[in-house]
Amino acid sequence: MAEHLIVIGAGPAGIFAALSWIEHAPDTQVTIVEKESEALGCFLKKNRDPWSLTREIYEPAEMADQYVRGGREMLGPLHRWGAADAMSWFEQHGIAFDVDETGRVIPVDGIDVLRNKLLGLVSEAGIKISTNCNVVAADAKSTGGFWITLEGEGTMECDSLVLAGGGLLATKAKGICAAFGHTVVEPVPAIFDLHTRDSRIVHAAGELVEGAHLIDDSGAEASGLIRLEPWGLSGPVVGELTSRAAESMRDRRYTFSLRIDWIGGLKNPTERTIDAITRANPRRPVGDEQHAPIPSRLWLQMVKDAGIDPSTQWQRLTKQEARALHRQLRHDSIKIVKRGSHYQETAVCGGVALSEIDFRSFQSRLVPGLHFVGDILDVDGLPGGANLQTCWTTGWLAGLSNI
Ligand SMILES: Cc1cc2nc3c(=O)[nH]c(=O)nc-3n(C[C@H](O)[C@H](O)[C@H](O)COP(=O)(O)OP(=O)(O)OC[C@H]3O[C@@H](n4cnc5c(N)ncnc54)[C@H](O)[C@@H]3O)c2cc1C
Repeated sequence: MAEHLIVIGAGPAGIFAALSWIEHAPDTQVTIVEKESEALGCFLKKNRDPWSLTREIYEPAEMADQYVRGGREMLGPLHRWGAADAMSWFEQHGIAFDVDETGRVIPVDGIDVLRNKLLGLVSEAGIKISTNCNVVAADAKSTGGFWITLEGEGTMECDSLVLAGGGLLATKAKGICAAFGHTVVEPVPAIFDLHTRDSRIVHAAGELVEGAHLIDDSGAEASGLIRLEPWGLSGPVVGELTSRAAESMRDRRYTFSLRIDWIGGLKNPTERTIDAITRANPRRPVGDEQHAPIPSRLWLQMVKDAGIDPSTQWQRLTKQEARALHRQLRHDSIKIVKRGSHYQETAVCGGVALSEIDFRSFQSRLVPGLHFVGDILDVDGLPGGANLQTCWTTGWLAGLSNI
């Protein structure tokens, strides 16, 4: 009788593991069970930034640096099936992509093309996806193999089991991992917006600040583009910072002061300091947007906050006023009052403890035949492609481990 594999979770990691498994062991009967009504539901979620499938980073050690947790363990797997392999796979399967200036690999025709391609391959390979099937328990049989229990729908049996239940924040998969004796590092949201009531930010909502540098008290830092929102701060650099400081921010209940150097992430910030602008444009008004060091509405808020009339010429600023502006521009501090929700459902840190996983096959060191792939592992990357790369790498290698 054909071997039977069950994959719990039809996210990118589970789907890729199923495809790899059947490619390397074509006689296997593969079933994916998914609690939601749609497979690959993550790709149906609204995303403000274009999806990035991976990073164009060919050197595995450099790719491993994209991980906040688990980079050391991912190094070997990335050597065996890394970003270059993923990009070749997309090319071979007709997924056209562009690479932006930061190395993000963006599907030219949107994420739906990848979703449809993956689901098409699943169907061609004869892999069955059972949606609306919530797995509430799983265990190893004493005779080898596994059984799983579906909510209200009895049990299923299999020879091998792949757990691909995602970030474990609010799913039964956490209890399932623990029931197999695995340690689960407490899951914590990793990529999210930061809410503030700072009136300068609220009034400048809609502006983009290109080269900000954020410094958190935990020691985490990040530079790049910030979006000013009616509720606070968002954008890739915010995600990078929250990802680096996820646990510490959770411990501070998402209420803390965030330090910002609004021009510190630029290639040449010295050209935009108060001194430099004063020297270059002594007679221009401080409020003139053409010579403002940062986007005009935010700048005007800062000028007003410093008690300065925006029509004052740069050369007429008192030392005290110049110091007040300098402080806001380079040593600003914003009170964060709440965690936002963007990405929170799937981008989490925490998950199954890495010491209990064999990183050659993504098989459990405790239970033979049990595999873990994707976000369910205590591996998490910076925004911009590393998290999906984890799905491709872990899924591919789990499937490859059968030959
Ligand atoms: C809006 C948004 C944008 C993102 N953009 C990017 C990006 O551009 N680049 C990037 O690299 N990453 C991005 N991410 C992160 C990326 O989506 C995740 O890293 C990825 O989805 C993880 O895949 P996964 O298969 O491990 O888990 P998931 O995608 O979470 O899939 C797990 C699946 O398992 C199912 N499941 C869970 N428990 C059970 C159970 N008990 N029984 C049955 N089924 C179960 C879930 O319903 C889910 O469908 C983004 C995330 C979001 C939300």
